[in-house]
Amino acid sequence: MPESANILNISRYTERTQALGPFTRSALWVWGCSRSCDGCIYRLDRTPESRAFDIEELADIFCAISDAEGITISGGEPFEQASAAAAMLRAIRSRRDYGAIIYSGFTHEELKGEAKADAGVRALLEETDILIDGPYIAALDDGITPYRGSSNQRVIQCSSRYDGIIERYYNVTGRKAEIKISGRRAELNGVPSKAAIDAWQSLIEKYAARGEGKTAGRCPTPRKGGSAPLDPV
Ligand code: SF4
Repeated sequence: MPESANILNISRYTERTQALGPFTRSALWVWGCSRSCDGCIYRLDRTPESRAFDIEELADIFCAISDAEGITISGGEPFEQASAAAAMLRAIRSRRDYGAIIYSGFTHEELKGEAKADAGVRALLEETDILIDGPYIAALDDGITPYRGSSNQRVIQCSSRYDGIIERYYNVTGRKAEIKISGRRAELNGVPSKAAIDAWQSLIEKYAARGEGKTAGRCPTPRKGGSAPLDPV
């Protein structure tokens, strides 16, 4: 879809998660990715239609989450909506301090190459504190690499913001995921292990079987969470 600098097409967002990087973070899943890597569970979490948000509206939402240290942006592919994602981060940061962790299916080298000709990609790289790069590769999914779906994905510090804490969060063993249920809505956040994915799918199948609501889902770049609206959204 054509990119607008002021509109971000998303699948969903969550105000708080502790499963997508250091500290308590907000998280945003952009809608869409032009690639179709084998085994990527983006499709489990993708809402059928994108939801278009003005970047100022998103900035209002995230600025109001006072206990979040920053945001993790995943997808889908954030760099396919790079101008709008960068503009949203600039809008947030014009009002408050906010860290930015971005997942991309492109490698850092690919993005730096793109940035030479694409101002949006350049702008989003400039707003990135940590880039987790590379596509999900099923054969490299060891089930234990934290915050990543497969071991090819690298944690690249693009700023000094998270100096001193990378080891504690990213150089350990074990996946982190959370299932949050609020009223009739459930969401899976994080980069889940197979056991967590199975638990999630059992949950939404149980509700679907009861006819208690529609289910939807998808996961992102490195298999990152999903949402199951037990009520239609
Ligand atoms: S792994 Fe990343 S690049 Fe590949 S299809 Fe999934 S979201 Fe797109």
